[in-house]
Amino acid sequence: MKRTFITLCVAACFATLPPLVFAQDAGKVLGGLLQNLLKPPQASNNSAPAAATSTNDLVGLLSQSMEQIDEPKEIEMGRQLAAVLLGAKPLHKDVALQRYVNRLGRWISLQSERPNLPWTFAVLDDAGYNAFAAPGGYVFVTKGLVDSVADESELAGILAHEIHHVVAKHHLAALRKSAQTGLLTRVLATQLSGNAQGAMSEQLLALGREVYSKGLDQGDEFDADRNGVALAARAGFDPYGLVAVLQQLRTARPDNPVFTLALRTHPATQVRLDQLEAAMGQRLDALSGKASPSVPQRLARAGNR
Ligand SMILES: [Zn+2]
Repeated sequence: MKRTFITLCVAACFATLPPLVFAQDAGKVLGGLLQNLLKPPQASNNSAPAAATSTNDLVGLLSQSMEQIDEPKEIEMGRQLAAVLLGAKPLHKDVALQRYVNRLGRWISLQSERPNLPWTFAVLDDAGYNAFAAPGGYVFVTKGLVDSVADESELAGILAHEIHHVVAKHHLAALRKSAQTGLLTRVLATQLSGNAQGAMSEQLLALGREVYSKGLDQGDEFDADRNGVALAARAGFDPYGLVAVLQQLRTARPDNPVFTLALRTHPATQVRLDQLEAAMGQRLDALSGKASPSVPQRLARAGNR
C-alpha cells in the first residue's frame, strides 16, 4: 500500500525546537515586520483591551473550560507560540511575498466567523512543505509550500483550512487536552529549579510541542477541510483549490525531500479526499473552473502597480 501522508498543519519544527529562541536577525532584515508580528496586538473591535497576561496565568487557564479562556488570552497564547515558531524558522526575506500572503490570508479571514481577530499570516524560510496555525489568528506557511502550489486558489484553500482551525479553536482545545492529561503536572515538577518566568514559558512550549508534534484529531482535520473549502469559495476562490492540493499530495512520493518534514500524524490523503467529496457533492461545481493566477504572476502584477 502506498504510504502518502498529509503534511498540512504539521509544525515539524516543534519537535526540534531550541528552548525559546527569538529570531531577532530576521526581524532586522525585514524592517520590523517580525516585531510587528510579535508585539501584543490591539484588541479587536468587540473584545476588551488585552490585559497583560503572564504565561503562568495562560497555562493555568488551560485547566479551565473553553468559555473561561477569553479572546485576549487566546490571542496572547497564540502570540507566544508564534514567537517560538519564529525562533525555530525565520521569516522569508521576500517582503513582497510576505505582503501578498498576508493580504490574501486577511481577505479570506474576513469572510470567516471571526473576522475581528488580529489575523497575521507569514511565510517561513523553509524549503519543506508545511502550514500551521496558532490560536488567536496566527497562520504560517513555508516557502517550500508556496513554491509548490500551482496557483492562487490552491494557496487560498490551504490558508482557509488553517483559518478554520483558528476559528474553531482546534489548537486551543488540543492544548487544553494535553494540559489536562498530566503533561502540565510533569512539566511543573521538572521546572521548579528554573526562574519563574522561564519555567512558565517552558510549560507553554512543552504543551505546544506536544500538540504540534502529535497533530490534531482527525475529526478536526476533516472539519477544517470541509469548512476551508466553503470559506475559500465565500472569498471568491475556486473551491477545488484545496482538493487539488490534496490530489497533489496523494501522488507525491513519500521519499520526496520536500515532504520529509511531514510527521505521520494526519489522516491519509485519500481518506480526506473521500470525506471532502462526500461533503461537497456537486454543490460547489458551479463555482469551480475560475481562472486563477500563479503566485509568481500575482507578485509580478503587484510589482507593476
Ligand atoms: Zn489541518
